[in-house]
Amino acid sequence: GLSAEAYRRRHEISVIGDNMPQPFTSFEVTGFPSEILREVHQAGFSAPTPIQAQSWPIALQGRDIVAIAKTGSGKTLGYLIPGFIHLKRRSNNPQMGPTVLVLSPTRELATQIQEEAVKFGGSSRISCTCLYGGAPKGPQLRGLDKGTDIVVATPGRLNDILEMRRVSLRQVSYLVLDEADRMLDMGFEPQIRKIVKEVPTRRQTLMFTATWPKEVRKIAADLLFNPVQVNIGNVD
Ligand code: ADP
Ligand code: MG
Repeated sequence: GLSAEAYRRRHEISVIGDNMPQPFTSFEVTGFPSEILREVHQAGFSAPTPIQAQSWPIALQGRDIVAIAKTGSGKTLGYLIPGFIHLKRRSNNPQMGPTVLVLSPTRELATQIQEEAVKFGGSSRISCTCLYGGAPKGPQLRGLDKGTDIVVATPGRLNDILEMRRVSLRQVSYLVLDEADRMLDMGFEPQIRKIVKEVPTRRQTLMFTATWPKEVRKIAADLLFNPVQVNIGNVD
């Protein structure tokens, strides 16, 4: 196989951080549970994408990550699969609230993330509830009441439900800010900061973004602890 350096060069991966683990250049070396490997195989995936290859081993170490990679690079499973493994390790009671929280800018994206979570995590008995605006709260609240391992939410709706005290984030220990640049462009920064105040500071935080402007750097500096940075391709 390729050395870590050769793999990174070939796939335009650059990393900033200490003690960088080797990228997972194939699914065989991931050590993922067999249920997850079976789903990946059934989806017809032949190898991890570069962002997955480099983010997975870092995320599995429990470290914070900022990952900068363009749309379509496989970022969703880049954070979901380590999230599934985090869930297995914690084995929290989902009735007490989610352990994994994913913030996403839009209803459409949140729904896609939930579908991916169900497709790849369903056979591991992982439950996922999606919260977004522009739809009645009732079904979303019922999903929470059943108990849920993962919540995927748009910031506005999650804040509404937090204000109603219908969900607790006190058990969240794996927080994902997906499409962070887009969430900030849409004006969600105050909402995000309000939500994160409800999440314990002892947590793992992962931020995914397509671009790396100063507003995104600022919120990363505030919400992440000593993150490893992974870039795929050119970063502006
Ligand atoms: P991003 O969030 O970076 O825009 P997605 O996570 O939505 O990208 O992934 C884009 C598409 O690639 C999805 O259809 C997803 O199922 C697929 N995909 C994810 N991982 C792999 C892989 N390792 N090999 C092939 N396709 C993949
Ligand atoms: Mg995405």
